[in-house]
Amino acid sequence: MDLNTINAIERPTSRDMLPTWRAGDAYLAGGTWLFSEPQNKLTRLIDLSTLGWEPLQANDKGLEIAATCTIAQLDTFSAPPAWIASPLIGQCCRAFLASFKIWNVATVGGNICMSLPAGPMISLTTALDGELLLWAPGSGQRRMRVADFVKGPVSNELRPGEIARAIHLPLAALTRRTAFRQVSLTNIGRSGALIIGTLDQKGAFVLTVTASTPKPYQFRFDALPGGNELTARIDSGIAGNWFDDIHGLPAWRRDMTLHFAREILAELGGGAR
Ligand SMILES: Cc1cc2nc3c(=O)[nH]c(=O)nc-3n(C[C@H](O)[C@H](O)[C@H](O)COP(=O)(O)OP(=O)(O)OC[C@H]3O[C@@H](n4cnc5c(N)ncnc54)[C@H](O)[C@@H]3O)c2cc1C
Repeated sequence: MDLNTINAIERPTSRDMLPTWRAGDAYLAGGTWLFSEPQNKLTRLIDLSTLGWEPLQANDKGLEIAATCTIAQLDTFSAPPAWIASPLIGQCCRAFLASFKIWNVATVGGNICMSLPAGPMISLTTALDGELLLWAPGSGQRRMRVADFVKGPVSNELRPGEIARAIHLPLAALTRRTAFRQVSLTNIGRSGALIIGTLDQKGAFVLTVTASTPKPYQFRFDALPGGNELTARIDSGIAGNWFDDIHGLPAWRRDMTLHFAREILAELGGGAR
């Protein structure tokens, strides 16, 4: 939709050219959310796409994903064979309620900064121990785990004028075995529960719960737990904080989460790849 209160668009091509942050500003990434509803408090957009960041950089430390990397670009990433967690990338890219228009322009950083419970890039990067690089306005930067960044629906640790620059996925996480489960109430609907399990070479197991809760939850074990132990940990950890909106009732989200948790346990425990 047209954003009628916008009277300026900046297109910086380097960090030095970023304008001084002021009230009424918003960073524009893919614009799929920004242009989907009225933004009456906004007067200026600062386009991040003109900064020209390399979308994906793989090296011996892991994968660097630029915040401006689109879902379509991420989906085409061809991982080294040793990165056995990489099928998770495509699985999470497909967990969007998204037409081809969203798919081609929505960005990884935009999805994380939106901080919706059904943000599949939050699920992916949380499950793979992703770390956000945040640029402070002017200069300076800080790093934060995606798991700690998202606080709840449309709520996160981003400070005024801060930019999500990139997400780093460490090599250790990319070489874990993974299991993925996702459900929506409707065909290609927004996720009601998106659960990911990872198992490292020493047997440590992590379950990441997203979409069924307002923010990501993670449950860590030194070895695969029993089913009852796992579901008890989930229930006590989430403590009734199941998400409630038109995409699913809390009781249904809890049932699906516990069911998927047991399936993931069986899959990773069975040695299947
Ligand atoms: C039909 C439809 C279906 C959708 N389905 C889903 C879905 O299934 N799951 C879901 O999570 N969302 C969904 N969305 C919402 C939205 O499209 C996605 O969250 C998308 O990933 C947002 O990315 P974007 O690059 O388009 O962000 P934008 O719309 O450009 O920006 C979103 C917000 O993040 C801020 N922002 C963006 N990038 C940065 C950055 N690098 N640093 C700091 N701030 C930044 C912007 O200022 C803005 O406030 C849907 C939207 C539509 C219209």
